[in-house]
Amino acid sequence: MSARLSHWLRLLWPGAAAAAAALLFALGRVHTFAACGWTEVALLGGLLASLGAVGVRRVRRGWQDLAPRLRDDLELGALLLALAECVALLGGGLESPLYPSVYLVMAFLVAFLRPAAGALLTLVAIGLDLCAFDGLGALPRAWPQAMAHAGFLALFALLYQLVLAAQVAASRRAEGKAVARRLRQLEERAREYRLIAAGSEGTDASPEGRERWVAAAVREVEQAVGSALEVAECALGTHTCAVFLLSSDDRELRLHDCRSRSERLRREPLPAGEGILGGVVRRRTSVRLSGSVKAATYYEGAAPVRSVIAVPLIERRGSRSSASGVSSASSGGGEAPGFVRGVLVADRIDDRPFADEDERLLQAVGREVLRAMEIERVMGTIKQARDEKDRIFRALEELNRASKPEEVLETTLEICRSLVAIDFGALTLVEEAAADATAAPGDGAPRRHRIAKVTGVNAGQALTGHAFPDNGGLCANVVRYGTPLPGAGARLGDRPLVFDEESQLRGIQALKILPLRSGDRVLGTLVAASRHRGAFDDEAVRLLEVVALQAAQSLQRAKLFAEVERMATTDGLTGLVNHRRFQSLFDERLALARRYQKPLSFILCDIDHFKSVNDGHGHPAGDAVLRGVAKLLAGEARETDVVARYGGEEFALVLPETDSAAARSLAERIRVAVEGASFQTDGGNLRVTLSLGIATFPETAQQKQGLIDLADQALYASKHGGRNRWTLAQPKPALRAAK
Ligand code: GH3
Ligand code: MG
Ligand code: MG
Repeated sequence: MSARLSHWLRLLWPGAAAAAAALLFALGRVHTFAACGWTEVALLGGLLASLGAVGVRRVRRGWQDLAPRLRDDLELGALLLALAECVALLGGGLESPLYPSVYLVMAFLVAFLRPAAGALLTLVAIGLDLCAFDGLGALPRAWPQAMAHAGFLALFALLYQLVLAAQVAASRRAEGKAVARRLRQLEERAREYRLIAAGSEGTDASPEGRERWVAAAVREVEQAVGSALEVAECALGTHTCAVFLLSSDDRELRLHDCRSRSERLRREPLPAGEGILGGVVRRRTSVRLSGSVKAATYYEGAAPVRSVIAVPLIERRGSRSSASGVSSASSGGGEAPGFVRGVLVADRIDDRPFADEDERLLQAVGREVLRAMEIERVMGTIKQARDEKDRIFRALEELNRASKPEEVLETTLEICRSLVAIDFGALTLVEEAAADATAAPGDGAPRRHRIAKVTGVNAGQALTGHAFPDNGGLCANVVRYGTPLPGAGARLGDRPLVFDEESQLRGIQALKILPLRSGDRVLGTLVAASRHRGAFDDEAVRLLEVVALQAAQSLQRAKLFAEVERMATTDGLTGLVNHRRFQSLFDERLALARRYQKPLSFILCDIDHFKSVNDGHGHPAGDAVLRGVAKLLAGEARETDVVARYGGEEFALVLPETDSAAARSLAERIRVAVEGASFQTDGGNLRVTLSLGIATFPETAQQKQGLIDLADQALYASKHGGRNRWTLAQPKPALRAAK
């Protein structure tokens, strides 16, 4: 009980204290200091105690890592405002010189509390002020003054909020710029180390991932270089020991890192041919100088040193990243091959010249510096290779997941676009009727090709679905020979014949067409084209080959799936829906009819005296008649109707949105069509007739089984009524036969 009481006390106390203050203001019980009594003392004490409690609670929440709630902000703000108003009143009423303290508190609250609390507390401040006006008996006379106070409070809060928002926005902008600058610096450093090639954007899929990697790699190299310089400084007793690296275009040398007692090292880039450093870059050998050293141009003004040694940083492996790269090829001579990356320089302020062993040590330190860069570069290459493998793996997984042929086509082109810079992509398929690419020309129907899917610049052209003959075009030849075209190094003509004359691709500078090969079959081709010459290097072609291979496998699998599904739902002899599939389709159509309150009819048909067809002309002739009747039924039905082989020589039709009158006329059409048809069989031309039974939802029956049973009874009635007729089922046993 006492716990609950203290809970409620804690909950309500701060608000009650602020409300009490407002009440006392309104009752005019708060006087100036000169006339103040116990009420004022109690109010001040109460407000201060409440503030203390609210403050302690706030600090506790802070320790528990809990953010203050809106309620906490409102309590603190209301108490502070009440206190400021109270102090203003004590200090001289409405004309009090202490009144600005209310504005001050308002500014503080708006600045430090959340905007919602700031807005609500502005209203609280105005309310308290009005209470004070009322308590002093100044209203209604002083309404203009009260309104001016309220206006100032609101304006103050608003302006402060606006200034604050503008400041936050400005500092965010500045922060963003600083981050971008830092990233640019890191990029530049990475280029100096040749961690990334000049102009390259890397292959990492996410820019954030790449930035993180560049930052970490640069840090690693910086640490390693710093340690190497420290070793050189201690071992050689140098005044300055510094690494200068050539810029990515090899035109400038830039101070990269140093251990120096001088403040005058030149931080801005130096021309790569200048002074002792330039000499080392040009000659690719170490240089030692002593005495009055003018060539130490890496200092601002006159060099303060008397002996200098500089060794080239020559990378044995690695690549030249610019046209002006300083390499053994351009410098000639018998020196070690490799590329100059920069200069390691050490100097002394005294006359002690550098000895041979000093040079050897500095060269060893230089090798350490290079090794640090080399390791990071190798790591970068490994990372790139891993990233690429990841991307390919993810792409192939996606292809594997695609279960429908259309999905496979779509995903294949998406993957091509994501892995290789293509401007146009297409997939052609060998038409099903002659899909066996290994079959020699002349076996059966001539082969045809169909453009199944396109993407990119020419996708707007009506290419999808376009079929073309087995011509001399590139796609036809890729299928014919099973190899990619055009071959490496082959020149692309002005208008390469990719598909056929009708569907020309324009503006293409690079083209690769790959076979979609599954086992020894070529299912079609993958066409990749670009408007940029040389877009498809070896790497890109390798990626396209992998995608084409996987696409062919996935396509074959998806086709098999589709075939299995088709076989499970189709009748093998007639190609109509089989009994099992008919049952589920009937359920679906009936549910729709029920939901949208539409009629639906069901017709059951049976060939008359079919046994005699079999007996008289043989089973194969019977089969041919069955196929013929099935074709007739399918021809009479609409797209949305379900035509099924119900049993041996029985067929069923489900007709959505068809009432009994419409069903009757269809039944009659069917009857007449079958009666008039002559079916070609090996046993000669045969004629048959059909008996039909019709049931309609909802008038004949409401449920599927009821409709089937009544249609069956109606069919039975047709048979008994003399065959070659239809009967409409009645809801009651009474049946009406007609011809
Ligand atoms: P009714 O007018 O009363 O229907 O006479 P019917 O001879 O058609 O009647 P019944 O149902 O007794 O005979 C059906 C025959 O259909 C029996 C069977 O040999 C034949 N049949 C069922 N399925 C097939 C099939 O797939 N192919 C062939 N050729 N005949 C089939
Ligand atoms: Mg039968
Ligand atoms: Mg029959």
